[in-house]
Amino acid sequence: MIILDGKKTSNDIKEEIADEVKSIIFSGGRIPHLSAILVGNDGASETYVNAKVKACEKVGFKSTLIRLPNSVTEKELLLEVEKINNNQNIDGLIVQLPLPNHLDEMKVTEAIDPKKDVDGFHPSNIGRMCLNLPTYLPATPSGILELLKRYEVNTSGKHCVVIGRSHIVGSPMSILMARNSFPGNCTVTLTHSRTENLKEITKSADILIVALGKSEFINSDMIKEGVCIIDVGITRVKSDKTKSGWKLLGDVNFEDVKNKCSYITPVPGGVGPMTIAMLLQNTLISAKGEIF
Ligand code: NAD
Repeated sequence: MIILDGKKTSNDIKEEIADEVKSIIFSGGRIPHLSAILVGNDGASETYVNAKVKACEKVGFKSTLIRLPNSVTEKELLLEVEKINNNQNIDGLIVQLPLPNHLDEMKVTEAIDPKKDVDGFHPSNIGRMCLNLPTYLPATPSGILELLKRYEVNTSGKHCVVIGRSHIVGSPMSILMARNSFPGNCTVTLTHSRTENLKEITKSADILIVALGKSEFINSDMIKEGVCIIDVGITRVKSDKTKSGWKLLGDVNFEDVKNKCSYITPVPGGVGPMTIAMLLQNTLISAKGEIF
């Protein structure tokens, strides 16, 4: 069994990006700049945004974190987005999700200039992805592709089963794994909460991508020998064994499945760090004007 080490791979990618930033500066160019909007003070969102800001520092990007109160109106938030859209010195804008209930996430996402939509969530960028046109790929699926690519996992002709149909992970992942490219060329089955006989389907997977948000949902009875498992899930549970009092669990029971699979991503240290690396990658692509 080979561990698909997202921590190491993401550090490699960050070093590559940092080198590019140095050469941009050396040739007199402008430093890439990512802006993030955080509404309210949800603990998990705060952690994710801080990790993104810290990653920017690590590769030499500029970053701006705009904190807005929970009570911000949709109009005020949209104005903030427009300001960043019009700021020629900012290459990428992310609005940390989820937003409080009174704010329409799709309306806010649509307000972001697709040229700065480095999360790859804007409908026009999702459309470009479906048409296989150059675009910012959503960071989590893109990080999974990068892991499969760098570990040279053979995907062509394989049966890829994706669990979960969210707009940010499962649905784009299913489209990307079916594309005529590497990684890709899979026969894809997209499963969700209404899928019947899930176990029969997962048992036929050569590549199993699990993104449903239920800790340790997948066990060794549900997989076949030699499967490649990508565990996207992150659930925070209480623990008396860690200093923080919390630990992170994936959607896969790692200990139970590890001897039956060919490759597996750990949690933590698998898909999570790759997501941030790909966000930085998209910001660099934007700064270099490589797509738009
Ligand atoms: P979500 O929470 O929006 O949706 C869950 C999906 O799982 C739904 O499509 C639902 O139909 C499906 N589902 C629920 N129960 C099911 C069942 N019993 N059988 C089959 N399908 C079922 O999904 P999300 O936002 O993609 O998040 C999924 C998990 O991935 C969460 O734990 C989240 O924290 C994690 N996540 C991790 C990263 C990362 O960078 N590692 C990024 C995004 C999300």
